[in-house]
Amino acid sequence: MLEFFIVIAVRSKSHTYVCYQHNRQHTKNYRPFHHFFKIQCKLNQYFIINQNLYIFAGQNHEISIVMEQFTIEIPVQQFRLNELSDEEKFWIETAVISSKQAYAPYSEFNVGAAVVLANGQIVTGNNQENAAYPSGLCAERVALFYAGARYPDVPVKAMVVVATKNEVIQPYISPCGSCRQVLLETEKRYQQPVRILLCGNDKVYAIDSAESLLPLSFSAENL
Ligand SMILES: [Zn+2]
Repeated sequence: MLEFFIVIAVRSKSHTYVCYQHNRQHTKNYRPFHHFFKIQCKLNQYFIINQNLYIFAGQNHEISIVMEQFTIEIPVQQFRLNELSDEEKFWIETAVISSKQAYAPYSEFNVGAAVVLANGQIVTGNNQENAAYPSGLCAERVALFYAGARYPDVPVKAMVVVATKNEVIQPYISPCGSCRQVLLETEKRYQQPVRILLCGNDKVYAIDSAESLLPLSFSAENL
């Protein structure tokens, strides 16, 4: 069963609220709860919270407590290096070269990113570490931010990510959550998908859109 902890939304005094406790008992009156509890209900129900937790069911309506579950799939294509186009192989070589120029004295794990712009320009980035660890930045964001700063009017069409250690290509790695969020913003900004190639030493994963790497994402549409 799905369990929720729900955060603050809004409240209207013009409707009746139906409150459910974890034991599924309910009342049609306000009924304050003074502790957190778990609740199970349909995903599309309307949640209203104001210090206390309520579920809005509307006037004289009741909520049936039924859990709904769905699956989100991420389409991924898998290639061997020799199956890629010459252009894509060049992007990967560019990312590998960039990885070797990373500043990674602490992890000794070098990451290179090659951002391919719609005009064919390639902007590279690599991880930039810092003794104060959170001050460093991932290769993907170094490249994406530089592309945004240098070519703000040119859409991003693809990005390659590769990791090397002692100059040897490692198994594929995938962008961290923060980099995925920036990739998503890039797609929204230019209104076109960014093809992502995750290059490993034995295979390459290709994903056609950053949005699929970040399901149930937060974007400007939520503001
Ligand atoms: Zn990252």
